Amino acid sequence: MDHVEIDKQHCWHPFTQQEIWTSPQHQPVMIDSGKGVWLKDTEGNKYIDGNSSIWTNIHGHNHPAINQAIKVQLDKISHSSYLGFGHPLASELALRLVSFFPETDLKRVFFSDDGSTAVECAMKMALQFRIQNGEPEKTEFIAFIGGYHGDTLGAASLGGVEAFFARFRRFGLIVHFIRDLDELRDFTESDLGKIAAVIIEPLVQGVNQIHVWPQGMLEELRVFTQEKSIHLILDEVMTGFGRTGSMFACQQEGVTPDFLCLAKGLTGGYLPMAATLVTETIYKGFLGDPQRAFYYGHSYTANPLGCAAALASLDVFKEENTLIGVKEKAAYLAYKLSYLANENTHIKEIRRCGLVAGVEMLTDQKGVGIEICEAARKYQLLTRTILNTIVLMPPLSITRDEIDIMVAALDQSIADVLD
Ligand SMILES: *Cc1c(COP(=O)(O)O)cnc(C)c1O
Repeated sequence: MDHVEIDKQHCWHPFTQQEIWTSPQHQPVMIDSGKGVWLKDTEGNKYIDGNSSIWTNIHGHNHPAINQAIKVQLDKISHSSYLGFGHPLASELALRLVSFFPETDLKRVFFSDDGSTAVECAMKMALQFRIQNGEPEKTEFIAFIGGYHGDTLGAASLGGVEAFFARFRRFGLIVHFIRDLDELRDFTESDLGKIAAVIIEPLVQGVNQIHVWPQGMLEELRVFTQEKSIHLILDEVMTGFGRTGSMFACQQEGVTPDFLCLAKGLTGGYLPMAATLVTETIYKGFLGDPQRAFYYGHSYTANPLGCAAALASLDVFKEENTLIGVKEKAAYLAYKLSYLANENTHIKEIRRCGLVAGVEMLTDQKGVGIEICEAARKYQLLTRTILNTIVLMPPLSITRDEIDIMVAALDQSIADVLD
């Protein structure tokens, strides 16, 4: 049996209707290797990684510095327990992460494995903090319609995408979903008194078809939550590490949250690892009696290989002036996409924030986005669609020439499907 046959007989893919996946006419792309923004499949075809391997990759695949850092750590030890022990790279990484927020109270780092666990842990911290610090009535959350925070049951209960999460609602927590800040201001004081925390994806909701928030909204939310003693959880699992043009999206509005959830790009997109940054104020609410500790953790917490990759990725940001490059590239992508929007009559709207873009098609006919993404493979672009919004979220290391290829591929594949 070849790999495709084994896959169809024994594997189960995320967010996938397996009946379609395993059908005889479906030829899945099997990725074999990568270099920079390019992926190569087992048939030898090359593609631009147009969604950064589901929003994870930052500096390109097979980056020599990150590869080297992992190899050095591999020869020392691949994993040791963070439960009861520490290790130098985790200390170094924690310091590097909090150093992005100097002169703020964001001083503690709790490591975990992926975006969902980064959020899960913020939620449990938020609840336990209230329970043991004299506010046991604050047990509810506010989240935004269209938001996505991961798939574990806790994180999923904050998810505002009905198609994914509605069926699990009654098993989760009490969560109030709002569309915007006006709806937040409609809450009564007594309702607000029950809220432990508000969670938001700052600047742009990824899964919600790249929905960009109005400028200044995040800052307003911070002011409101501070006034009402509600914690602010920022889910920067997608927006973190340069994608929106700054290291973290919240920096663009001068906002410091109580909890900052990081994952996807933390290791440059190399290894599963997450971090929840927390204020010292919240941390102190867990000191004292042993029962006040945070009884939460995962076996691979602070994995040394992940830490090595993350530290190397942060070094690459400096060595390659990645953030300066992102600003130029984002401007170039904006220029290319505005041209595309003008000239391609099938496009309804293009939404963009930094190097994150969503190209929404005019048609609401089901499956058009999928067909366009499949057509794009012929033109060397591999990406995914959300409903009929095609996502372009390339690694930050993409060049202008590669942006040209990516946008031309999209233009051509839209024509192939819709002209
Ligand atoms: C991907 C994502 C998550 C979940 O992260 P996983 O690593 O897939 O668990 C959470 N929040 C946002 C904003 C994401 O984009």
